[in-house]
Amino acid sequence: MARVTIESLRKEYDTGSVVAVDDLSLEIDDGEFITVVGPSGCGKTTTLRMLAGLERPTAGTIQIGDDDVTNVHAKNRDVAMVFQNYALYPHKTVFENMEFGLRMSTEMVEDEREQRVVEAAEMMGIGDLLEDKPDELSGGQKQRVALGRAIVREPDLFLFDEPLSNLDASLRTEMRAEIQRIQNELGITAVYVTHDQEEAMTMGDRMVILNHGVLQQTGPPTEVYENPVNQFVAGFVGSPSMNFVDVDVRRDGDRIQLLGPDGRFQFDLSATYADQHAASLTADRYTLGIRPENVSVASGAADNTIEGTVEVVEPVGSDNYLHIDIAPEFIARVESTVSPEPGEQVRLTFSESDLHLFDSE
Ligand code: ADP
Ligand code: MG
Repeated sequence: MARVTIESLRKEYDTGSVVAVDDLSLEIDDGEFITVVGPSGCGKTTTLRMLAGLERPTAGTIQIGDDDVTNVHAKNRDVAMVFQNYALYPHKTVFENMEFGLRMSTEMVEDEREQRVVEAAEMMGIGDLLEDKPDELSGGQKQRVALGRAIVREPDLFLFDEPLSNLDASLRTEMRAEIQRIQNELGITAVYVTHDQEEAMTMGDRMVILNHGVLQQTGPPTEVYENPVNQFVAGFVGSPSMNFVDVDVRRDGDRIQLLGPDGRFQFDLSATYADQHAASLTADRYTLGIRPENVSVASGAADNTIEGTVEVVEPVGSDNYLHIDIAPEFIARVESTVSPEPGEQVRLTFSESDLHLFDSE
């Protein structure tokens, strides 16, 4: 079991022309499950490969438990990695695939190796597949073997690089739960990389959001969802994505108004809000963020409404997504009983407590 400490980690490729990871510092608690999420190319795999010892950092340090492992070779780290493509040996049986790492890295006697493999196979529900070869298995079964192979080693640290991206949606949901169960049962520290924010939200005790190799925010999923620190995080976490509208600030004595594009809406901030945010409300222009699920269609008189025209009504089961012509992308997520016609004018409202203001880009 181990706590992991990453300090000022940096990785350059091609003699510095690519900075894949930039000054990353992170503490991962013993037994914690963290998800690392961000768009393609943001440095997730590079970070994992440095943790695994497969890539040497340009600068910074990595500590696992009490040991500084920054320059320790992969085979001398007590780390197991699970990949998207399973990476199974095609000519070995499931048993041999799972046993292989133990043969290579320990002096364990055969009986104990066998016992560990059988136990891990039972845990993964593949006890009856031990004599099969990988090409006889389904994608889900292969991924179970890959997980089983990681488990038998009883590593200090589990690393996952988008392990479920090759599976179809229902199997992915099943395997998410399975991975969480195993991690819980074994209490192993885990770092799970994904480009899928929903996966990161549902699986992690804590999520780490990267963009262009730079740490944007880290925190429990609900905290990140409720208090995104910048527009990138706000737009990346949550689905459909947060709506953004540029607003001008008008001050009139103590009163603060936010004015939307083309005079189509005005939002009066309450005195309490203005007071609480006085220190940060100093600019003349912001990007207002509001989540689709926090927008509703006003019926009757209401303050602070936005006028808009419905462009598309997209039904998604119990809800409708109303695409509104206010911003390039503006969606209101409403109950399916609220179903205006395309072309219809609607007035939208949202409450001040759901509003986010970001520095204009
Ligand atoms: P992610 O896993 O988040 O998609 P990666 O860590 O694979 O991102 O890549 C981060 C950046 O580093 C990208 O710009 C990628 O093109 C670059 N990169 C990754 N591996 C190499 C490499 N071996 N040589 C050169 N550039 C690389
Ligand atoms: Mg990757």
